[in-house]
Amino acid sequence: MTPINEMLSTATAERYRQVVRATVDRTADRFAQVDRPTTDTPAAELRRRVRAIDLDAPPIGTDRAMAEVDDLFVREAVWFHDPASMAHLNCPVALPAVAAEAVLAAVNPSVDTWDQSRIGTEMERHVVDWVASRIGFVAGDGIFTSGGSQSNLQALLLAREAMTANTSTSTIPTPPPTVFATAESHFSVRKSARLLGLPDDAVVDVATDDAGRMLPTALATAIAAARAAGRTPMAVVATGGTTDRGVIDPLEPIADVCDLEDVWLHVDAAYGCGLLVSPTRRHLLAGIERARSVTADFHKSFFQPVSSSALVVRDPADLARASWHADYLNPEDATEPNQVDKSLQTTRRFDALKLWATLRASGAQAIGRAFDAVIDLAEQTHALVAAHDDLVLVAPTQLSTVLFRWQPAGVSDAEADALVGPLRAALLAEGRVLIAKTVIDGRPCNKLTLLNPDTTIEQVERSLAHVVATAADLRAAGAVPTGATGATGATR
Ligand SMILES: *Cc1c(COP(=O)(O)O)cnc(C)c1O
Repeated sequence: MTPINEMLSTATAERYRQVVRATVDRTADRFAQVDRPTTDTPAAELRRRVRAIDLDAPPIGTDRAMAEVDDLFVREAVWFHDPASMAHLNCPVALPAVAAEAVLAAVNPSVDTWDQSRIGTEMERHVVDWVASRIGFVAGDGIFTSGGSQSNLQALLLAREAMTANTSTSTIPTPPPTVFATAESHFSVRKSARLLGLPDDAVVDVATDDAGRMLPTALATAIAAARAAGRTPMAVVATGGTTDRGVIDPLEPIADVCDLEDVWLHVDAAYGCGLLVSPTRRHLLAGIERARSVTADFHKSFFQPVSSSALVVRDPADLARASWHADYLNPEDATEPNQVDKSLQTTRRFDALKLWATLRASGAQAIGRAFDAVIDLAEQTHALVAAHDDLVLVAPTQLSTVLFRWQPAGVSDAEADALVGPLRAALLAEGRVLIAKTVIDGRPCNKLTLLNPDTTIEQVERSLAHVVATAADLRAAGAVPTGATGATGATR
């Protein structure tokens, strides 16, 4: 055995086949046995097992190392395809994409310069053009990113650069430029503003309606107020499917305001992008083609493995605002289309291959139908929760989330609120049903994010029965002191 154990090369092609086959066999066996989202191994025990391994110990060889990975990690994994896995926006993944991921791991391309990827660059561009046309951009462009957070950051960087383009420096003007979003928008909008050197008050929360959607009239008022205070509007971030309520800001009237005010409109469709291929709900994103930039997370509603996201722009020239000159990347060679010119990253995964494989294998309609299925399931679950004696439906949602609280008759608001966190924690410790918690209108509540198109309403019903039983047990066991003062928005 060589000192650096084993390398994948022409000489080791057979060994590669053997190692990956054995690894895939073990993982497939695990998949075949999954009957719960995760195990009940205590957190302290997980940490102990990991720390017990000395990374400087004598090496054990590939076969034993991979058997150890199976025993240590895969056995304890969180399985997002399990019907009771409803805590986060992690989706079950399309098989062709998983197979494409295996190709990526072995070939290990980087789509930064053309000479490192050649046809890979062409394929990424073709996929991006396809996404742009689904959005409705006539001649758009874009780039794959590591996720919605990075896509949002890049969008706001481009908007800031566009704003300062006519000035001689790229320094941030005082008073600082203003970004308009809502309190329901993703936290990465505020984080991005901070990364871009803007003060926290540069992001203005525009008022929403009762469902959590941006009010276009309030947007117009907020922009006018900012201008009156001497501030320049930099961007409006509309959300195409908020993370909690799954509601879609009214894109057409927001675009009207942005056109009138000449402000960059970014649509964060990280969650809702699956609607782009939905056979029945595409209209929910009507107006998205009027955005100047769009975030789409294929690792949320296109059933792609992490990571797979894109930032797509209406005007290809806008992407150039992020480009930089580096001699070793041959930037002057105009015949070679270098994706690095459009990206915040340099070395970058060829994630587009996974979406390519999925589109070729199953087609866009199948993806759209799968997203439709989870939205249908959420609608059925809303009805189930609303009719349940012990559960309260906190707010209606438009995509695939369900916001609820356990609160039978006789349980005070304060008690119910105080149980939200412990309920989630108790369920996670047990590993049979995974749910989340959040805050809506200042009160904590629990949340399901449904993303498995094969989950049935009967399975959701069984999971909810377990949630209800666990909540009742917790209360009976005195997990929450009677008359507790409920936690507030501070839990977020
Ligand atoms: C999940 C999400 C993001 C962040 O995406 P990541 O891929 O997790 O970085 C941004 N915006 C919205 C609306 C989201 O739901």
